[in-house]
Formats: sequence, C-alpha cells, structure tokens
Amino acid sequence: MEKLRVLELYSGIGGMHYALKESGIPFEVVAAIDINTSANQIYSHNFPDTPLWNKTIEGITIDDFNKLSFDMILMSPPCQPFTRIGLQGDIADPRTKSFLYILDLLPRLCRLPRYILLENVKGFEVSCARERLVKTLEECGYTFQEIMVSPTSVGIPNSRLRYFLIAKISTEDCSQISDAFPHPAERESEPEQPDPVLNPLRPGSSQPEGGGCVLYKLETTEDAQRKKDQNNDLSVRQVQDFLEAQQDVVMETYVLAPKTLLRYALLLDIVQPTCRRSVCFTKGYGRYVEGTGSVLQCCTETEMESVFSGLDLYSEEDKLQRLLKLQLRYFTPREVANLMGFPQSFSFPEQIATKQRYRVLGNSLNVVVVSRLLQRLLS
Ligand code: SAH
Repeated sequence: MEKLRVLELYSGIGGMHYALKESGIPFEVVAAIDINTSANQIYSHNFPDTPLWNKTIEGITIDDFNKLSFDMILMSPPCQPFTRIGLQGDIADPRTKSFLYILDLLPRLCRLPRYILLENVKGFEVSCARERLVKTLEECGYTFQEIMVSPTSVGIPNSRLRYFLIAKISTEDCSQISDAFPHPAERESEPEQPDPVLNPLRPGSSQPEGGGCVLYKLETTEDAQRKKDQNNDLSVRQVQDFLEAQQDVVMETYVLAPKTLLRYALLLDIVQPTCRRSVCFTKGYGRYVEGTGSVLQCCTETEMESVFSGLDLYSEEDKLQRLLKLQLRYFTPREVANLMGFPQSFSFPEQIATKQRYRVLGNSLNVVVVSRLLQRLLS
C-alpha cells in the first residue's frame, strides 16, 4: 500500500499524527500547520522530520496547498466558538475564520483529498459551521458519517465526548463506523462540565440543579449512581493502569494546596486508582479546579464519605486536617497524556512548564479514539 499523504491542520501537539501511527496505516504527514508556539515546540520535538508550518491557515494560498498534493486532511478547528457553555459565536466568531477558509478552498483544489477527518467538541453538531461543512462535502461528492464518541468506548477511563466527522470521496458507504466502538450510544449521556474560563473558581457555584437529593460533597444520588455504574463497567480499565510509578511523582509539585482544599474541596472530582472513570481534562487543569479534570486520592485507606460528611461543622484547621488525610494530587501531565492515549514515545521538551503542558493536552484529543476512526475510514 502506498503511503497516504496527510495534511494535518491545527496540529497542536500532534494528536492526529499519533493516531495515524497507532492506526497502522502507511502515511506521511506532508505538512502540519499551527500557530501556537509551545504546541509547535512540542510537535517538532516529537516529530523533527515533519514539515511544520508556523502560519495562520487563512494566510496560506491555494497554490501552496495544491503543491502539497495530499490524500487526506485531519483537522481539529478551534472549539471555543462551539462549546455548549461558551458564548457559541459559531461562524461569527473570528476563530472560525480559518475553518471557513478551508471550506471555501476545498472545492477549488486541483485534486480533492480522498479522506477527511474532523474532530470538535459536543455542540459542533448543531452549529452553522457544521451545516456549511456538510453542504461543502455533499457538493464535492463525499460520503460521510458523524459520530459522538468518548474514550470510555475504547476502554479508557476518561470522559471526553467529542464530535467526529469522517468523509470519504467515493460512492462507498461508510455507515458502519459505529461498529468500531462497543457501546457508543450509552456513553453519550456524559455530565456537562462547566467552562473553566467562563466559570473560574467560585465556591459554591456547582449547586446541583434539577432535583436529586444531595448526599455529601454537593453530589446528588444520581451523580453517585452514575459514578458507581462507571466504576462497575469492567469493559473500561482502571485509572491505576495509567499512573506513573509513585516514586517518580514529585508530590510537592502535584499535591493540592491547603488553600485550594479549603475553598474548593466540594467541587473536586475525586477518583481512586481502582476507579474506572475520570472527567475530561481541559486546558485549565492545574489552574482552575471546577470542571477541569479529576484529582487523584493517593491515600485509599481513608473513606471519602468519612472526610466529607459534616465537613462544614469543623473549624478551618480541623477541616484541613480531614481533607489532607485523602492525600489529593493532580494527575501529572504524563498521566493525562496516558489517559488521552498518547504513546510512551511522546514527550515534552524540558523547557515547557507544567501548566503549559496541561494547557496543550487539554486542547488535544484521544489518540486511541481517533486511530479507531481512521482504521474504520480506510477499511
Ligand atoms: N488536535 C490538536 C489540537 C487542536 S486545538 C492536538 O492534538 O494538539 C486547535 C489548534 O488550532 C490550536 O493549537 C491553535 O493554536 C490552532 N489554531 C487556531 N487557529 C489557527 C489558525 N488560524 N491557523 C493555524 N492554527 C490555528
């Protein structure tokens, strides 16, 4: 099989590139394009031989694209205009401009790429940008399929429900895609996470809505049941399979500060190593607490319930002593990368700070999910 010539747009840290590798498809990334400096440093650190263009997509001419003569486009356009809790600027948002430029360009290329894969957030499926995409694909003669999928479908204990579109330029139908995932439909009801930027740390801002009796830790009976069901799903691996060796984790760097514990304990999503779930890691992880990703309970002898029930009745000092018993820490960037399906060969250049690492990972995608979609697209 001849190598597919792949154009990787909005390449970030190369999640798509890793997914291609993982899929086993013979390929060559003919150009990766992104304007984020740290993401680009990480990309070229890991893929020194791939041409990486530090340019805005809308600044690249059709001639330049034609010269690349690519067979496939992989892209994750900026998702902020489409997030459910964001402002939903959609096609009016300046961040969508480059995507509209691609849609405008596609029908005018000398040769249409055979395959396209697009990733975006939940919310994209109801956007005008999606309507324009579908219209363009239909006009160009693509068949396509849209699917919402989360890494739990491939046995990874992390929620990251995303919209995917895979398109093929042929008369062949690619409607079998959902077979790639054991139980996609039942995974779709993931709880929404607040936007860390729009809802920065505000104590008490997570009051449960819409009924359900509150147990402890602002959790409703439904929340508790959902977590329990997730932890009992043996098709998903345990969080501990994705952790670094404890002796390799510099605890001082990752442990939650007393201030954070006291203010935000009730808002934390806490998981134990034996859990089969964790919430989506976003770019604010390590900076904001609410809705940015789970934290790990390192001391498993302490029962969560014993720490949290009646917590408010204690003095600040006693409260802190109780909370400290759980030994809560953030997942390290390596562990977040593991939960996002990045292989061991992926690494960060030393100069990239921890917060920056979380930031770029939060923008990236689950490598295993995308590699399955690619296999399906080409099968
Ligand atoms: N899939 C990528 C991340 C995509 S996030 C990964 O695996 O890491 C979207 C990326 O698009 C960001 O890295 C951002 O820097 C880049 N971007 C946004 N607007 C752009 C534009 N107009 N031209 C080029 N890159 C852009």
